[in-house]
Amino acid sequence: MSKEVVIHGRAFESFLSEEAIRRRIGEMAAMIADDYAERLPLFLPILNGSFVFAADLLRAYPAECELAFVKLSSYRGMRSSGRVETLIGLDLDLSGKDIVIVEDIVDSGRTLSDFLPVLQTARPASVAIASLLVKPDALEFPLEIAYRGFEIPTRFVVGYGLDYDGLGRNLPEIYQLKER
Ligand code: 5GP
Ligand code: MG
Repeated sequence: MSKEVVIHGRAFESFLSEEAIRRRIGEMAAMIADDYAERLPLFLPILNGSFVFAADLLRAYPAECELAFVKLSSYRGMRSSGRVETLIGLDLDLSGKDIVIVEDIVDSGRTLSDFLPVLQTARPASVAIASLLVKPDALEFPLEIAYRGFEIPTRFVVGYGLDYDGLGRNLPEIYQLKER
């Protein structure tokens, strides 16, 4: 029996359980630690949506790591406005750092493909992307996503940090918009 939640009058059904998410994040952390065995990764979560994923990914990460946050914006409601602004962060020195961008979800890829050149101006040693969710069929901007939690259909999701117009971030699992 799948659970249902209603947010702003729209029905969402449970899609990824807490247990499935936890297990997958453990695998992602192990993969990253393997690849960064000789390096000190600086995890760079993109606020707001990534805060829950980042908290769990870092606690699953079995070696030394650093953390800094950045805030961009490109989403209003259920559609991307397609504008990226760096709102906070990036005032710290990222030069020479091995950065792992921590993203909740990659949809069109526009947010990250706009952000990557901005990030490069800080002269990091390397940049990789870890995204909990990827919508492969929605990808319009070429992006190399080294660490992918789940590839999901092009349907709006909420929970586990992801919101629908400000609500739903506190849901411990991920819900998907029910088709009408
Ligand atoms: P993109 O620029 O790749 O199209 O979108 C990236 C951002 O849009 C994500 O970081 C996230 O904030 C938001 N986004 C994309 N798809 C969804 C979705 O299904 N649900 C929610 N809540 N946000 C989404
Ligand atoms: Mg995001």
